[in-house]
Amino acid sequence: MKKISSLVVVIIACLSVKAQKMSPADSAAKTEVYQPVPKIVVAGTSTITPPSDAVYLFDGKNLDEWVSTNHPSQKANWPVSNGIFTVDKKEGNIQTKKSFTNYQLHLEYRIPTNITGEGQLRGNSGLFLASTGGGDAGYELQILDNYNNTTYVNGQCGSIYKQFIPLANACKKPGEWQTYDVAWTAPTFNADGTLKTPAKVTVYHNGVLIQNNVTLLGETRWIGTPFYKAHGACPIKLQAHGDKSEPISFRNIWVREL
Ligand code: MG
Repeated sequence: MKKISSLVVVIIACLSVKAQKMSPADSAAKTEVYQPVPKIVVAGTSTITPPSDAVYLFDGKNLDEWVSTNHPSQKANWPVSNGIFTVDKKEGNIQTKKSFTNYQLHLEYRIPTNITGEGQLRGNSGLFLASTGGGDAGYELQILDNYNNTTYVNGQCGSIYKQFIPLANACKKPGEWQTYDVAWTAPTFNADGTLKTPAKVTVYHNGVLIQNNVTLLGETRWIGTPFYKAHGACPIKLQAHGDKSEPISFRNIWVREL
């Protein structure tokens, strides 16, 4: 009798949970991971200069190689000055005019010294290694200020968002320029749209290896589990995250197609 009544309680509890409509934030929390926390590594100071066959996506002058993600016929309207450009959150994400498959990419970003906020709401942006559609569709390498700021570890700076925790926390403090060096192998698909070979990525953050040839589980998602959908060559995208913290800046972005 006792067993039956416990079973009834469990069933009622399950039904009532199902009956409550889960908020997006609650749904998103289901895929947050908090352990293990990546060790903090103090990065070195050298940065690499572009090799002879690198093609600049931003060389300090203008955003001619970029367009608005949500209006690809319109130019990227983030402000450029003094050799750098800064996120304009009202304008939304921007992406390259050109599409890419496999490549090596170098990018530099800076969290402003007056940054505020905490968790995911502090200097959040992102480098989408392939933009598969509007908004945040694609595969995001997270950009976030995790210098003395914690969040779920599979969403901290250097994570492949909600898929792979970075091997170390190599974040520099706000105000310092930071580098990403990425080797991206795009996924391939069969003629019927099924996955043929998954995407792989290796990432150095400020010269520290933080993703070592990881095999992606699909596109990165805020809510729910990752899955693939077929695509060809894709633009590279930068995120205008909707939090209220001060916008971050970028410079010196170049690519070598492989
Ligand atoms: Mg982001």
